[in-house]
Amino acid sequence: MKYIKFKNYEYQVPIGKIVCVGRNYAAHAKELGNEVPEFPVIFLKAASNVIYSGEAVIHPKYSNNLHHEVELVLYIGDTIKNVNEEEAEKAIYGYAVGLDMTLRDLQFEFMKKGDPWTLAKSFDTSAVLSDFILKEDYKLRGDENIILKVNDSIRQNSSIKNMMFSPSKIVKYISEKMTLEKGDLIFTGTPEGVGRVVPGDKIFAEIENVGSLETYIVE
Ligand code: MG
Repeated sequence: MKYIKFKNYEYQVPIGKIVCVGRNYAAHAKELGNEVPEFPVIFLKAASNVIYSGEAVIHPKYSNNLHHEVELVLYIGDTIKNVNEEEAEKAIYGYAVGLDMTLRDLQFEFMKKGDPWTLAKSFDTSAVLSDFILKEDYKLRGDENIILKVNDSIRQNSSIKNMMFSPSKIVKYISEKMTLEKGDLIFTGTPEGVGRVVPGDKIFAEIENVGSLETYIVE
């Protein structure tokens, strides 16, 4: 079982489900040739996919195109269902930086066939997390910088103000479809600049005032 790691606290909260939003930054939707969606695209990762900063991403042998996607991750602290935006905001207890590691070749194959993306998104080490900062220690302004470097060169560089669906809108939308519970995590989508990484590459990702993470790719 995987547990959430908190900055400055020793709480033992198991990770629940991991709900991810796709195409939440217009410039990223366009770089992959997708329409900007009317509603968020939603998919899931398994809690067992999680690793933390300092641990290695294992490149699956069945893919030739592993991509990095840096994202703001929300920590849900209450059980909620069908909430309004204000209640949704209250259920967000904290934030982290996350990597939604993606097998882009498999994803495009699945999209072509109309199949689910599951195996392109959910595999061991596909969800990399920093420690979580609690909202009582830092309240998001909404315009924090979000960056990702591969081997010290900047690949993704944006602001979370460029998200089309805000954290509270995302949580409201998901809560209309499935109950969210304490320990659930929400990946809120990636800005433009996604790209391939190969064994030997080092990744650094950071969201201003929220935190940072480091990982590296191995075979
Ligand atoms: Mg993503």
